[in-house]
Amino acid sequence: MKRQIIIFGILSLLLVCPLTLNADKHGFVRTVVIDPGHGGRDPGAVGRKVKEKDIVLEISLKLGQYIEEYLDDVEVIYTRTTDEFVELHRRAQIANENKADLFISMHCNASPSSRAYGAETFVMGLHRSKENLEVAKKENASILYEDDYLETYDGYDPNSPEANIIFSMFQNAYLNQSLSMASLVQDQFRDRAGRNDRGVKQAGFLVLYNITMPGILVEAGFLSNPAEEKYLMTESGQAYIASAIFRAFRDYKNQQDAMAERQLAVVNNYNTASQEDSSQNPTTQQPTEITKDEGGFEQPTSENEICFRVQFATTSQKRSIDAPEFKGLEGISYYFHEGLYKYTVGKAQTLEEASVIQQGMHEKGFTDAFVVAFKNNERIAPAKAMRIINQRASNP
Ligand SMILES: [Zn+2]
Repeated sequence: MKRQIIIFGILSLLLVCPLTLNADKHGFVRTVVIDPGHGGRDPGAVGRKVKEKDIVLEISLKLGQYIEEYLDDVEVIYTRTTDEFVELHRRAQIANENKADLFISMHCNASPSSRAYGAETFVMGLHRSKENLEVAKKENASILYEDDYLETYDGYDPNSPEANIIFSMFQNAYLNQSLSMASLVQDQFRDRAGRNDRGVKQAGFLVLYNITMPGILVEAGFLSNPAEEKYLMTESGQAYIASAIFRAFRDYKNQQDAMAERQLAVVNNYNTASQEDSSQNPTTQQPTEITKDEGGFEQPTSENEICFRVQFATTSQKRSIDAPEFKGLEGISYYFHEGLYKYTVGKAQTLEEASVIQQGMHEKGFTDAFVVAFKNNERIAPAKAMRIINQRASNP
């Protein structure tokens, strides 16, 4: 029961910030939000001589300055530029309101052992080790400095390991892009800044949870390690870290822009071709709503049926469910939503069942497959689905 309350609480966050899917709008990278962690009454990790909040602010401002100086077509937005306290949910909101294309959260690490050192980059996902979970718990504990954190985060307890597991289920729409940026950052840290590369990792960070774009959380080094603290305190150390992230960002932007360019070309070609088609055969235009042909959802089995499916692909043109790219997948269905065809596998009555199907898709290589909820085949917010299920369980 306790677990269900946690699940419900976390999902309710989605009602406040509805999930939108970046997978649907592959775009050019034009706006980046840089998020210096902590600030004000929240010092973050505390070293012998410095506080995390001050170091990450310096690095963030340098990073923003490099981007503004060298990339004319990118707008830089900060979640803070002074030593002020900004709530975690507000940081995500700033990124969402500004329709950012990438979110970079800057942090420094601390460990009980003064020997731990090096840089690591996290993306939102399920932690694979206790160590990763500990980093997320430490960063999420920032909400303890907020006045109404129990209310704002719906009873979320930063010390609960279960809460972190639920995180990964609904929020994988940006996983591939986030991973790509994270590994570019680690490459630069290792090859150009000479840092110890601790790798790309996943864990459930509250600050990444509600963003509707790819995002990373950088742990630039350990303030608990005297040598690394000294490095991070120096102007040149901070400049090395900032320029490594800048170069990674420039590479990421080039990759994403090239992809967006190619997609735009495909869409333009298609539009030209279909205009020619329809001028020759004005009666052959396809209706936009499709519900009953092959691959569409079958009728719901009961009135007000709630179910979960695992979404793995989105296209602007309809594909046959026998298409070669779907080979080896069973139980494919599609639905038409917000102007796009969205492909799913499986149909589950519970979140647990859906998570098994999602896991199977991840093992087949569809690493960004995620769970979507439906009521009578209409897509609804996962939080709404959970609320209905919980209400039914308490009033059978
Ligand atoms: Zn931090």
